[in-house]
Amino acid sequence: MKNGAPWAAMRSPERRFHRVAADTIAAAVELCRRRLIGVSDTPWLDARVLASHVTGLDASAIVAYGEHRLPARRREELEALTSRRAAGEPVAYLVGFKEFCGLRVAVDRRVLVPRPETEELVLAVVEDWRGREPDILDLGTGSGAIACALADMLPNAAVVATDVSIGALQVAAENVARFALGERIELVHGDLFEPLERDRRFDAIVANLPYVRDGDPELAPGVRAYEPALALDAGLDGLDVYRRMFQEAPRHLLQGGRVYCECGPATAADLATTASAAFPDRTVSIRHDIGGRERMVLVA
Ligand code: GLN
Repeated sequence: MKNGAPWAAMRSPERRFHRVAADTIAAAVELCRRRLIGVSDTPWLDARVLASHVTGLDASAIVAYGEHRLPARRREELEALTSRRAAGEPVAYLVGFKEFCGLRVAVDRRVLVPRPETEELVLAVVEDWRGREPDILDLGTGSGAIACALADMLPNAAVVATDVSIGALQVAAENVARFALGERIELVHGDLFEPLERDRRFDAIVANLPYVRDGDPELAPGVRAYEPALALDAGLDGLDVYRRMFQEAPRHLLQGGRVYCECGPATAADLATTASAAFPDRTVSIRHDIGGRERMVLVA
């Protein structure tokens, strides 16, 4: 850094931009960031993640080496990715992965991008079963993010993960192999409990099933346009899939077992009612996510 303290430049990408030549990494990142303002909630983060992807540099190196030249071919790549991002495509599909519970989970358009809220679902399970050897069922595993995170954080857990989508299971298999968790994660194809033996029981049933209501005005347009409808849509009230799940769940839960479901604020109360009807002798509770929204229904 020629003038001033390096952290001053890091704090202020704007100021940095005015000092750097047009063909530098910093200039390209700044151009990207500006194009994403108003399109993405996180333009600065997106710009750095996309720049990392095209350069192979990690996120801090993008800042540290900002004054280095970015070859024209790389700049064009970044511009093309920025255009796709500006059209609404999730960053995770553009770069092919999403960080989830400390794992770099491979994703593509066959699977829902794992959300930070879902990390809280994983943590709820981990809190309850840490130090034990639970048999866990992950319904609708998608990319396998939940199954992999649980197997990673609970080293004595065995996980069965199901999905109705063959494409999703292919992505999940890639992730299971990537994290070398094949000995403790079994992937099975089928709808909810359907591929399991009728009375196979688990300590924990974990599910981030589709819960988006038809025409939900809160669903971000980029989600609808790019992410698989199969992983999102759940009928008029958003409970079509969970209702089917709770019909079968009691016969697959061990005594003392627990159910952990992700939901949206609009579906939480009705999902809790559905869960109580299926488990009249159990305690059903709603938990909030870090943003204060009703996000989980738990059966204990
Ligand atoms: N949380 C997702 C969204 O709002 C929905 C995930 C789901 O339906 N399971 O985009």
